[in-house]
Amino acid sequence: MKIFHISAECYPIAKVGGLADVVGALPKYQNNLGATSSVIMPYYDNAFTQKNNFKSIYESKLDFNGHKIGYNILKTKAAVLDFEVYFVDIPNLLHKNYVYSADDTDRFLAFQIATLDWILSFKDLPDIIHCHDHHTGLIPFMCQESFKYKSLNTIPVITTIHNAQYQGWFGYDKLHLIPEFESTKTGLLDWDHCINPLAAAIKCAWRVTTVSPSYMDELKQEANGLQDLLQHESNKCIGILNGIDTAVWNPETDHYLDHKYNIKTLEAGKLANKLALCKTFNLDESKPLITFIGRLVHEKGADVFPLAIKKALEDENCSVLVLGSGHDEAEQALLQLKENNTGLYNVFIGYDEKLSHNIYAGADFLLMPSRVEPCGLNQLYALRYGTIPVVRSIGGLKDTIVDIDKNEGFGISHKEVTVAQIYKAITRSVDLYNKTTIFKSIRKHIMTIDHSWDVSAKAYINLYQSLKK
Ligand code: ADP
Repeated sequence: MKIFHISAECYPIAKVGGLADVVGALPKYQNNLGATSSVIMPYYDNAFTQKNNFKSIYESKLDFNGHKIGYNILKTKAAVLDFEVYFVDIPNLLHKNYVYSADDTDRFLAFQIATLDWILSFKDLPDIIHCHDHHTGLIPFMCQESFKYKSLNTIPVITTIHNAQYQGWFGYDKLHLIPEFESTKTGLLDWDHCINPLAAAIKCAWRVTTVSPSYMDELKQEANGLQDLLQHESNKCIGILNGIDTAVWNPETDHYLDHKYNIKTLEAGKLANKLALCKTFNLDESKPLITFIGRLVHEKGADVFPLAIKKALEDENCSVLVLGSGHDEAEQALLQLKENNTGLYNVFIGYDEKLSHNIYAGADFLLMPSRVEPCGLNQLYALRYGTIPVVRSIGGLKDTIVDIDKNEGFGISHKEVTVAQIYKAITRSVDLYNKTTIFKSIRKHIMTIDHSWDVSAKAYINLYQSLKK
């Protein structure tokens, strides 16, 4: 089975969030199951592309906005890639030192058109086209409706929604950029009087998946305006929980860690990592280390959790370390907390892959007070590194973390995103830490929970197979 994943992000090439982690792992696990799964993504000007050599395997011109724009399909032999990745290089549009920007409509439309033009040139068409998020949301529509891609309309197209908050909306003034189709079909692109690529994908894809079952249920209630559409299309919608790449996220082999460990050396290994982290960030290592890693945005509760941390720090019974970047107010609030809490609190504003691995390894607890969490990968990485997740029970967090008060529970959860509830969850974490025997047995247990991609990769393959004629 020949599968193409089409995505704006793919780890380790270009990562902004969890989308990259999924697209960087799922093809590898699908290939382990006998499929030929690869990725098509934009060629950005970033650390990965600067470090590796590329060769052009296809060269053509794209009709775009009344111009002919040259593009190349590139390949690399970079050793870190476990599967084939094809890079769409459109110099003036995609070839930038960022993934997302204000002119994304033109950039990703050109990317999608170049991708389909290239696929059109194949002798052997793929068996499955798997699109990810709104940046590739017009592909299901174009495969079905654009005259020029008529020969692709028998290929099953799947869309996975990693985050329904972002939908790629644009105005009708750009309608002419989409390759020609019957004018009566414009409604397939429309949602609330503008062109909505995610809505178009939900309408036109053969199947729509979300990255956890609970997130699918939640989206049918509230999906930033698309809830009615998802309810209407519910017979083609399914939630498949993400896995994690256990080769990349393995404390025993993680090249970012100075102190590697496994389940047998867990206590000593975590202590060594905690000591190193506390030394670097001037934190009291005798206290439970509570951490946060992620985008500092409303979805992640970043407007509220700094206040809960402030309150917890007043009790002086935990240390806190935050890694993230995002909204100015949240960054400022977190930076300000440093003033009165030297030795108990620190924050690193920015994106740092190495530090994130070191935090998963050295932390005792990881906070995820999310308002929305489609799947959430951080809690799964935390489990694998023996760090207890403290989560708001929503979306994928609800599907993966069982509260310690429940039978066989191993995490701490709360229902609402309020200062009081996040603070309470932190105090429960401190209490748990102080019950040393239970605390140690829980962290040993969580390292054994299997969230590898094996199961989910199979679920996607089964879904594809159900669509083959
Ligand atoms: P989302 O995609 O909504 O941001 P996920 O939980 O699905 O959230 O994935 C987040 C991924 O991004 C994880 O791999 C996490 O470790 C990583 N991450 C988020 N923020 C940072 C940061 N500031 N530095 C390093 N890694 C980060």
